[in-house]
Amino acid sequence: MNHTFHPTILREYDIRGIVGETLFAADAFAIGKAFGSRVRRAGGSTVCVGWDGRLSSPELAAALVDGLVSAGCIVSKVGRGPTPMLYYAAKLRGADGGIMVTGSHNPPTHNGFKMVFQGKPFFGPDIKNLGELTAAGDWLDGQGSAADEPVFDQYVDRLLADYDGTHPLKVVWDCGNGAAGEVAQALARRLPGTHTVLFGDIDGTFPNHHPDPTEPHNLRALIDEVLFSRAHLGLAFDGDGDRIGVVDAEGRILWGDQILVILAEDLLKSRPGASIIADVKASKVFFDEVARLGGQPVMGRTGHSLIKTQMAEIGAPLAGEMSGHIFFADKYYGFDDALYAAIRLLGIVARWQGETLASRRDKLPHMVNTPEMRFDCAEERKFQVVAEVKERLAAAGARVNAIDGVRVDTDDGWWLLRASNTQAVLVARCEAASSEGLKRLRAALEAQLTASGVALPG
Ligand SMILES: [Zn+2]
Repeated sequence: MNHTFHPTILREYDIRGIVGETLFAADAFAIGKAFGSRVRRAGGSTVCVGWDGRLSSPELAAALVDGLVSAGCIVSKVGRGPTPMLYYAAKLRGADGGIMVTGSHNPPTHNGFKMVFQGKPFFGPDIKNLGELTAAGDWLDGQGSAADEPVFDQYVDRLLADYDGTHPLKVVWDCGNGAAGEVAQALARRLPGTHTVLFGDIDGTFPNHHPDPTEPHNLRALIDEVLFSRAHLGLAFDGDGDRIGVVDAEGRILWGDQILVILAEDLLKSRPGASIIADVKASKVFFDEVARLGGQPVMGRTGHSLIKTQMAEIGAPLAGEMSGHIFFADKYYGFDDALYAAIRLLGIVARWQGETLASRRDKLPHMVNTPEMRFDCAEERKFQVVAEVKERLAAAGARVNAIDGVRVDTDDGWWLLRASNTQAVLVARCEAASSEGLKRLRAALEAQLTASGVALPG
Protein backbone atom coordinates (compact mmCIF):
# COMPACT_ATOMS: atom_id res chain seq x y z
CA MET A 1 0.00 0.00 0.00
CA ASN A 2 1.14 3.53 -0.77
CA HIS A 3 -0.41 6.95 -1.23
CA THR A 4 0.21 10.06 -3.33
CA PHE A 5 -0.59 13.60 -2.21
CA HIS A 6 -1.84 16.40 -4.42
CA PRO A 7 1.41 18.13 -5.49
CA THR A 8 0.43 21.49 -3.94
CA ILE A 9 -0.20 20.44 -0.34
CA LEU A 10 3.29 19.65 0.98
CA ARG A 11 4.60 23.12 1.72
CA GLU A 12 7.65 24.64 3.40
CA TYR A 13 6.26 25.07 6.92
CA ASP A 14 3.10 22.97 6.94
CA ILE A 15 0.78 20.76 4.93
CA ARG A 16 -2.23 22.63 3.62
CA GLY A 17 -4.96 22.20 1.05
CA ILE A 18 -8.58 22.73 0.09
CA VAL A 19 -10.76 20.06 1.66
CA GLY A 20 -12.47 17.86 -0.92
CA GLU A 21 -10.32 19.33 -3.74
CA THR A 22 -6.67 18.85 -2.85
CA LEU A 23 -6.90 17.49 0.70
CA PHE A 24 -8.88 14.43 1.81
CA ALA A 25 -9.24 12.21 4.88
CA ALA A 26 -7.07 9.62 3.09
CA ASP A 27 -4.25 12.19 3.07
CA ALA A 28 -4.66 12.71 6.81
CA PHE A 29 -4.41 8.95 7.37
CA ALA A 30 -1.24 8.77 5.23
CA ILE A 31 0.31 11.73 7.07
CA GLY A 32 -0.37 9.96 10.36
CA LYS A 33 1.11 6.69 9.14
CA ALA A 34 4.25 8.29 7.68
CA PHE A 35 4.79 10.67 10.60
CA GLY A 36 4.13 7.86 13.06
CA SER A 37 6.71 5.71 11.27
CA ARG A 38 9.27 8.53 11.59
CA VAL A 39 8.53 8.74 15.32
CA ARG A 40 8.90 5.00 15.84
CA ARG A 41 12.05 4.69 13.74
CA ALA A 42 13.58 7.39 15.95
CA GLY A 43 12.82 5.21 18.98
CA GLY A 44 9.68 7.09 20.08
CA SER A 45 6.01 6.22 20.21
CA THR A 46 3.92 9.03 21.77
CA VAL A 47 2.18 11.68 19.67
CA CYS A 48 -0.23 14.45 20.75
CA VAL A 49 -2.97 15.49 18.32
CA GLY A 50 -5.05 18.67 18.49
CA TRP A 51 -7.48 20.34 16.08
CA ASP A 52 -8.95 23.76 15.39
CA GLY A 53 -12.59 24.77 14.97
CA ARG A 54 -12.97 24.20 11.24
CA LEU A 55 -15.88 22.05 10.14
CA SER A 56 -13.53 19.55 8.48
CA SER A 57 -11.11 19.31 11.42
CA PRO A 58 -12.77 16.48 13.44
CA GLU A 59 -12.88 14.18 10.40
CA LEU A 60 -9.29 14.93 9.39
CA ALA A 61 -8.11 14.52 12.99
CA ALA A 62 -9.86 11.14 13.26
CA ALA A 63 -8.18 9.88 10.07
CA LEU A 64 -4.83 11.26 11.21
CA VAL A 65 -5.15 9.44 14.55
CA ASP A 66 -6.06 6.21 12.74
CA GLY A 67 -2.90 6.56 10.64
CA LEU A 68 -0.73 7.16 13.70
CA VAL A 69 -2.27 4.19 15.53
CA SER A 70 -1.78 1.95 12.49
CA ALA A 71 1.94 2.81 12.61
CA GLY A 72 2.02 1.68 16.24
CA CYS A 73 1.93 5.08 17.99
CA ILE A 74 0.34 5.90 21.34
CA VAL A 75 -1.84 8.93 20.58
CA SER A 76 -3.00 11.53 23.09
CA LYS A 77 -5.97 13.48 21.72
CA VAL A 78 -5.69 16.85 23.46
CA GLY A 79 -8.89 18.35 22.06
CA ARG A 80 -10.07 21.36 20.10
CA GLY A 81 -8.18 24.59 20.66
CA PRO A 82 -5.41 26.84 19.38
CA THR A 83 -2.16 25.51 17.88
CA PRO A 84 -0.08 26.63 20.91
CA MET A 85 -2.28 24.45 23.17
CA LEU A 86 -1.11 21.45 21.13
CA TYR A 87 2.53 22.60 21.37
CA TYR A 88 2.05 22.97 25.12
CA ALA A 89 0.55 19.49 25.48
CA ALA A 90 3.48 17.96 23.58
CA LYS A 91 5.95 19.73 25.93
CA LEU A 92 3.98 18.95 29.10
CA ARG A 93 3.65 15.26 28.30
CA GLY A 94 7.14 14.88 26.85
CA ALA A 95 5.60 13.50 23.65
CA ASP A 96 7.87 12.38 20.81
CA GLY A 97 5.73 14.26 18.32
CA GLY A 98 2.73 16.53 17.93
CA ILE A 99 0.37 17.29 15.05
CA MET A 100 -2.15 20.11 14.90
CA VAL A 101 -4.98 19.91 12.40
CA THR A 102 -5.46 23.55 11.38
CA GLY A 103 -6.01 25.79 8.40
CA SER A 104 -4.65 28.71 10.47
CA HIS A 105 -6.07 32.01 9.12
CA ASN A 106 -7.11 30.64 5.71
CA PRO A 107 -10.65 30.49 4.28
CA PRO A 108 -13.13 28.00 5.84
CA THR A 109 -12.68 25.52 2.98
CA HIS A 110 -8.95 25.13 3.71
CA ASN A 111 -7.30 22.91 6.28
CA GLY A 112 -3.91 21.47 7.04
CA PHE A 113 -1.33 20.20 9.53
CA LYS A 114 1.44 21.76 11.64
CA MET A 115 3.93 19.36 13.18
CA VAL A 116 6.56 19.15 15.91
CA PHE A 117 9.02 16.29 16.25
CA GLN A 118 11.21 15.70 19.32
CA GLY A 119 10.37 19.19 20.56
CA LYS A 120 11.46 20.91 17.35
CA PRO A 121 9.53 22.29 14.37
CA PHE A 122 9.08 19.68 11.62
CA PHE A 123 9.41 21.49 8.29
CA GLY A 124 11.20 21.87 4.93
CA PRO A 125 13.02 18.61 4.07
CA ASP A 126 11.11 16.74 6.81
CA ILE A 127 7.78 17.51 5.18
CA LYS A 128 9.19 16.57 1.77
CA ASN A 129 10.35 13.31 3.31
CA LEU A 130 6.80 12.49 4.46
CA GLY A 131 5.78 12.67 0.79
CA GLU A 132 8.61 10.30 -0.21
CA LEU A 133 7.78 7.76 2.52
CA THR A 134 4.12 7.88 1.56
CA ALA A 135 4.71 7.52 -2.19
CA ALA A 136 6.96 4.52 -1.56
CA GLY A 137 4.68 2.99 1.08
CA ASP A 138 7.82 2.99 3.22
CA TRP A 139 6.11 2.92 6.58
CA LEU A 140 5.59 0.73 9.61
CA ASP A 141 2.61 -1.38 10.55
CA GLY A 142 1.72 -1.72 14.19
CA GLN A 143 -1.10 -1.64 16.64
CA GLY A 144 -1.01 1.50 18.75
CA SER A 145 -3.75 3.15 20.75
CA ALA A 146 -5.49 6.49 21.18
CA ALA A 147 -7.10 8.16 24.18
CA ASP A 148 -8.91 11.45 24.87
CA GLU A 149 -6.68 13.47 27.18
CA PRO A 150 -7.88 17.09 27.22
CA VAL A 151 -5.28 19.67 28.20
CA PHE A 152 -7.48 22.78 28.15
CA ASP A 153 -7.61 23.43 31.92
CA GLN A 154 -3.89 22.90 32.45
CA TYR A 155 -3.10 25.16 29.51
CA VAL A 156 -5.27 28.00 30.83
CA ASP A 157 -3.70 27.62 34.31
CA ARG A 158 -0.23 27.70 32.75
CA LEU A 159 -0.97 30.88 30.81
CA LEU A 160 -2.38 32.63 33.88
CA ALA A 161 0.58 31.59 36.05
CA ASP A 162 2.76 34.21 34.32
CA TYR A 163 0.33 37.12 34.60
CA ASP A 164 2.05 39.78 36.70
CA GLY A 165 -0.10 42.90 36.36
CA THR A 166 -0.74 45.07 39.39
CA HIS A 167 -3.74 47.22 38.44
CA PRO A 168 -6.91 46.11 36.65
CA LEU A 169 -7.35 46.83 32.95
CA LYS A 170 -10.27 47.16 30.60
CA VAL A 171 -9.59 44.90 27.64
CA VAL A 172 -11.42 43.83 24.47
CA TRP A 173 -10.53 40.47 22.93
CA ASP A 174 -11.46 39.53 19.34
CA CYS A 175 -11.11 35.86 18.47
CA GLY A 176 -12.82 36.06 15.07
CA ASN A 177 -14.62 32.78 15.90
CA GLY A 178 -11.24 31.04 15.61
CA ALA A 179 -9.83 28.26 17.76
CA ALA A 180 -8.48 30.64 20.44
CA GLY A 181 -12.03 31.59 21.45
CA GLU A 182 -12.64 29.25 24.36
CA VAL A 183 -9.20 29.82 25.87
CA ALA A 184 -9.60 33.60 25.54
CA GLN A 185 -12.99 33.44 27.26
CA ALA A 186 -11.52 31.39 30.11
CA LEU A 187 -8.67 33.91 30.51
CA ALA A 188 -11.13 36.82 30.40
CA ARG A 189 -13.18 35.25 33.22
CA ARG A 190 -10.18 34.78 35.48
CA LEU A 191 -8.03 37.87 34.88
CA PRO A 192 -8.59 40.95 37.06
CA GLY A 193 -10.26 43.92 35.35
CA THR A 194 -13.07 44.22 32.83
CA HIS A 195 -12.96 42.01 29.77
CA THR A 196 -15.17 41.88 26.70
CA VAL A 197 -14.73 38.99 24.27
CA LEU A 198 -15.91 39.51 20.69
CA PHE A 199 -16.66 36.49 18.49
CA GLY A 200 -15.41 34.08 21.14
CA ASP A 201 -17.60 31.18 20.01
CA ILE A 202 -15.65 28.79 17.83
CA ASP A 203 -17.35 28.64 14.42
CA GLY A 204 -15.55 27.21 11.40
CA THR A 205 -17.60 29.29 8.98
CA PHE A 206 -16.08 32.52 10.42
CA PRO A 207 -19.41 34.39 10.21
CA ASN A 208 -18.15 37.77 11.50
CA HIS A 209 -14.79 38.47 9.96
CA HIS A 210 -11.80 36.54 8.77
CA PRO A 211 -9.50 35.53 11.68
CA ASP A 212 -6.36 37.24 10.37
CA PRO A 213 -5.23 40.23 12.47
CA THR A 214 -2.58 41.36 9.97
CA GLU A 215 -5.38 42.63 7.71
CA PRO A 216 -6.57 45.98 9.15
CA HIS A 217 -10.17 45.49 7.99
CA ASN A 218 -10.38 42.40 10.21
CA LEU A 219 -9.68 44.66 13.22
CA ARG A 220 -12.56 47.06 12.49
CA ALA A 221 -14.98 45.57 15.06
CA LEU A 222 -12.24 45.39 17.69
CA ILE A 223 -11.22 49.01 17.13
CA ASP A 224 -14.85 50.18 17.33
CA GLU A 225 -15.41 48.31 20.59
CA VAL A 226 -12.15 49.58 22.14
CA LEU A 227 -13.13 53.17 21.31
CA PHE A 228 -16.78 52.74 22.31
CA SER A 229 -16.03 51.10 25.66
CA ARG A 230 -12.95 53.27 26.36
CA ALA A 231 -10.82 50.17 26.87
CA HIS A 232 -7.09 50.33 27.59
CA LEU A 233 -6.33 48.07 24.67
CA GLY A 234 -7.66 45.43 22.29
CA LEU A 235 -6.26 42.02 21.42
CA ALA A 236 -6.93 39.91 18.32
CA PHE A 237 -5.94 36.37 17.38
CA ASP A 238 -5.63 34.53 14.11
CA GLY A 239 -7.63 31.39 13.36
CA ASP A 240 -5.37 29.05 15.31
CA GLY A 241 -4.10 31.41 17.99
CA ASP A 242 -0.43 31.52 17.09
CA ARG A 243 -0.51 35.12 15.81
CA ILE A 244 -1.57 38.22 17.74
CA GLY A 245 -2.88 41.66 16.80
CA VAL A 246 -2.90 44.60 19.21
CA VAL A 247 -4.83 47.88 19.19
CA ASP A 248 -4.23 50.82 21.56
CA ALA A 249 -6.87 52.94 23.35
CA GLU A 250 -6.97 55.32 20.39
CA GLY A 251 -7.79 52.49 18.03
CA ARG A 252 -4.37 52.40 16.39
CA ILE A 253 -2.86 49.09 15.35
CA LEU A 254 0.50 48.05 16.80
CA TRP A 255 2.41 45.90 14.33
CA GLY A 256 4.44 42.84 15.26
CA ASP A 257 7.74 44.73 15.56
CA GLN A 258 6.16 47.42 17.78
CA ILE A 259 4.64 44.81 20.11
CA LEU A 260 8.03 43.15 20.23
CA VAL A 261 9.80 46.38 21.28
CA ILE A 262 7.42 46.75 24.24
CA LEU A 263 7.86 43.11 25.29
CA ALA A 264 11.64 43.42 24.85
CA GLU A 265 11.87 46.58 26.94
CA ASP A 266 10.32 44.76 29.91
CA LEU A 267 12.27 41.54 29.43
CA LEU A 268 15.62 43.32 29.18
CA LYS A 269 15.18 44.67 32.73
CA SER A 270 15.55 41.15 34.10
CA ARG A 271 17.79 39.82 31.29
CA PRO A 272 20.13 42.65 30.28
CA GLY A 273 22.08 41.99 27.10
CA ALA A 274 19.71 39.27 25.90
CA SER A 275 19.40 38.53 22.18
CA ILE A 276 16.00 39.37 20.71
CA ILE A 277 15.18 38.17 17.20
CA ALA A 278 12.89 39.90 14.70
CA ASP A 279 12.38 38.77 11.14
CA VAL A 280 13.87 40.57 8.17
CA LYS A 281 10.63 42.49 7.56
CA ALA A 282 10.88 44.35 10.88
CA SER A 283 11.34 48.09 11.17
CA LYS A 284 14.72 49.68 11.79
CA VAL A 285 13.02 51.04 14.91
CA PHE A 286 13.02 47.54 16.43
CA PHE A 287 16.76 47.06 15.95
CA ASP A 288 17.62 50.58 17.16
CA GLU A 289 15.32 50.40 20.20
CA VAL A 290 16.49 46.99 21.38
CA ALA A 291 20.12 48.15 21.14
CA ARG A 292 19.26 51.37 22.98
CA LEU A 293 17.56 49.33 25.74
CA GLY A 294 20.71 47.26 26.23
CA GLY A 295 19.69 44.19 24.24
CA GLN A 296 21.25 42.41 21.31
CA PRO A 297 18.92 42.81 18.30
CA VAL A 298 19.18 39.95 15.80
CA MET A 299 17.72 39.91 12.30
CA GLY A 300 16.29 36.51 11.38
CA ARG A 301 14.81 34.86 8.33
CA THR A 302 11.03 35.06 7.95
CA GLY A 303 9.14 31.87 8.83
CA HIS A 304 7.97 30.68 12.25
CA SER A 305 9.86 27.37 12.00
CA LEU A 306 13.10 29.16 11.12
CA ILE A 307 12.71 31.65 13.97
CA LYS A 308 12.09 28.88 16.53
CA THR A 309 15.15 27.02 15.31
CA GLN A 310 17.33 30.16 15.46
CA MET A 311 16.08 31.01 18.97
CA ALA A 312 17.15 27.61 20.24
CA GLU A 313 20.54 27.93 18.49
CA ILE A 314 21.49 31.30 19.97
CA GLY A 315 19.54 31.03 23.24
CA ALA A 316 17.32 34.05 22.58
CA PRO A 317 14.58 34.45 25.21
CA LEU A 318 12.22 36.38 22.90
CA ALA A 319 11.51 36.65 19.18
CA GLY A 320 8.79 37.90 16.90
CA GLU A 321 7.65 38.34 13.34
CA MET A 322 5.81 41.16 11.60
CA SER A 323 3.05 38.65 10.94
CA GLY A 324 2.28 38.55 14.69
CA HIS A 325 4.01 35.32 15.69
CA ILE A 326 5.59 36.05 19.11
CA PHE A 327 7.89 33.50 20.74
CA PHE A 328 8.80 33.52 24.44
CA ALA A 329 11.53 31.27 25.77
CA ASP A 330 11.69 33.43 28.92
CA LYS A 331 9.70 31.50 31.56
CA TYR A 332 8.05 29.64 28.65
CA TYR A 333 8.90 27.09 25.96
CA GLY A 334 10.03 29.07 22.92
CA PHE A 335 7.08 28.37 20.65
CA ASP A 336 4.74 30.95 19.14
CA ASP A 337 1.77 31.42 21.43
CA ALA A 338 -0.38 34.50 20.91
CA LEU A 339 -2.38 33.85 24.09
CA TYR A 340 0.79 33.69 26.16
CA ALA A 341 2.08 36.86 24.44
CA ALA A 342 -1.24 38.50 25.35
CA ILE A 343 -0.81 37.55 29.02
CA ARG A 344 2.72 38.95 29.11
CA LEU A 345 1.67 42.17 27.33
CA LEU A 346 -1.30 42.66 29.66
CA GLY A 347 1.00 42.14 32.64
CA ILE A 348 3.35 44.87 31.37
CA VAL A 349 0.60 47.38 30.63
CA ALA A 350 -1.00 46.62 34.03
CA ARG A 351 2.28 47.36 35.84
CA TRP A 352 3.03 50.68 34.11
CA GLN A 353 2.74 53.83 36.19
CA GLY A 354 1.81 56.92 34.20
CA GLU A 355 2.21 55.16 30.85
CA THR A 356 -0.37 53.67 28.50
CA LEU A 357 0.01 51.57 25.41
CA ALA A 358 -0.90 54.66 23.37
CA SER A 359 1.67 56.89 25.11
CA ARG A 360 4.35 54.20 24.83
CA ARG A 361 3.58 53.80 21.14
CA ASP A 362 3.90 57.56 20.63
CA LYS A 363 7.43 57.43 22.04
CA LEU A 364 8.60 55.06 19.30
CA PRO A 365 10.45 56.89 16.51
CA HIS A 366 8.08 57.60 13.64
CA MET A 367 8.76 56.03 10.27
CA VAL A 368 6.75 55.87 7.06
CA ASN A 369 6.24 52.44 5.51
CA THR A 370 4.80 50.85 2.48
CA PRO A 371 2.50 47.93 3.22
CA GLU A 372 3.81 44.55 2.16
CA MET A 373 3.98 44.70 -1.66
CA ARG A 374 3.63 41.54 -3.74
CA PHE A 375 4.81 41.03 -7.31
CA ASP A 376 3.87 37.96 -9.33
CA CYS A 377 6.97 36.06 -10.39
CA ALA A 378 7.27 32.52 -11.73
CA GLU A 379 8.29 29.91 -9.17
CA GLU A 380 11.42 28.99 -11.16
CA ARG A 381 12.42 32.67 -11.56
CA LYS A 382 11.78 34.15 -8.10
CA PHE A 383 15.04 33.15 -6.37
CA GLN A 384 17.00 34.01 -9.53
CA VAL A 385 15.56 37.54 -9.58
CA VAL A 386 16.65 38.09 -5.97
CA ALA A 387 20.13 36.77 -6.84
CA GLU A 388 20.38 39.16 -9.83
CA VAL A 389 19.33 42.13 -7.71
CA LYS A 390 21.87 41.15 -5.07
CA GLU A 391 24.62 40.98 -7.69
CA ARG A 392 23.82 44.38 -9.21
CA LEU A 393 23.65 46.00 -5.78
CA ALA A 394 26.96 44.46 -4.72
CA ALA A 395 28.57 45.76 -7.93
CA ALA A 396 27.19 49.22 -7.12
CA GLY A 397 28.61 49.10 -3.60
CA ALA A 398 25.22 49.21 -1.83
CA ARG A 399 24.84 48.27 1.85
CA VAL A 400 23.07 44.91 1.61
CA ASN A 401 22.03 42.35 4.22
CA ALA A 402 21.37 39.06 2.43
CA ILE A 403 20.17 36.91 5.34
CA ASP A 404 16.77 36.44 3.66
CA GLY A 405 16.44 38.05 0.22
CA VAL A 406 18.05 41.49 0.01
CA ARG A 407 17.58 44.19 2.61
CA VAL A 408 19.21 47.40 1.40
CA ASP A 409 20.13 50.26 3.74
CA THR A 410 20.33 53.78 2.33
CA ASP A 411 20.42 57.22 3.96
CA ASP A 412 16.64 57.38 3.52
CA GLY A 413 15.88 54.05 5.25
CA TRP A 414 15.73 50.55 3.83
CA TRP A 415 13.96 48.37 1.32
CA LEU A 416 13.53 44.62 1.25
CA LEU A 417 12.96 42.19 -1.59
CA ARG A 418 12.54 38.48 -0.96
CA ALA A 419 11.06 35.44 -2.65
CA SER A 420 8.03 34.04 -0.85
CA ASN A 421 8.70 30.55 0.53
CA THR A 422 5.14 29.49 -0.14
CA GLN A 423 3.90 31.31 -3.28
CA ALA A 424 5.05 32.37 -6.77
CA VAL A 425 5.55 35.96 -5.68
CA LEU A 426 8.27 38.37 -4.70
CA VAL A 427 7.54 40.27 -1.51
CA ALA A 428 8.85 43.78 -0.86
CA ARG A 429 8.67 46.48 1.76
CA CYS A 430 10.17 49.97 2.13
CA GLU A 431 10.59 52.14 5.22
CA ALA A 432 11.91 55.68 5.47
CA ALA A 433 12.00 58.60 7.86
CA SER A 434 10.08 60.82 5.38
CA SER A 435 7.61 60.36 2.54
CA GLU A 436 10.13 61.84 0.06
CA GLY A 437 12.63 59.24 1.23
CA LEU A 438 10.03 56.53 0.82
CA LYS A 439 9.46 57.60 -2.80
CA ARG A 440 13.19 57.29 -3.51
CA LEU A 441 13.36 53.84 -1.93
CA ARG A 442 10.37 52.68 -3.91
CA ALA A 443 11.88 53.97 -7.14
CA ALA A 444 15.13 52.11 -6.40
CA LEU A 445 13.21 48.90 -5.74
CA GLU A 446 11.12 49.27 -8.90
CA ALA A 447 14.20 49.97 -11.01
CA GLN A 448 15.71 46.68 -9.78
CA LEU A 449 12.53 44.73 -10.51
CA THR A 450 12.28 46.23 -14.00
CA ALA A 451 15.93 45.42 -14.70
CA SER A 452 15.14 41.78 -13.97
CA GLY A 453 12.01 41.80 -16.11
CA VAL A 454 9.44 41.66 -13.29
CA ALA A 455 6.18 43.36 -14.28
CA LEU A 456 5.04 46.16 -11.96
CA PRO A 457 1.31 46.29 -11.31
CA GLY A 458 -0.63 49.02 -13.21
ZN1 LIG B 1 -1.84 30.84 12.71
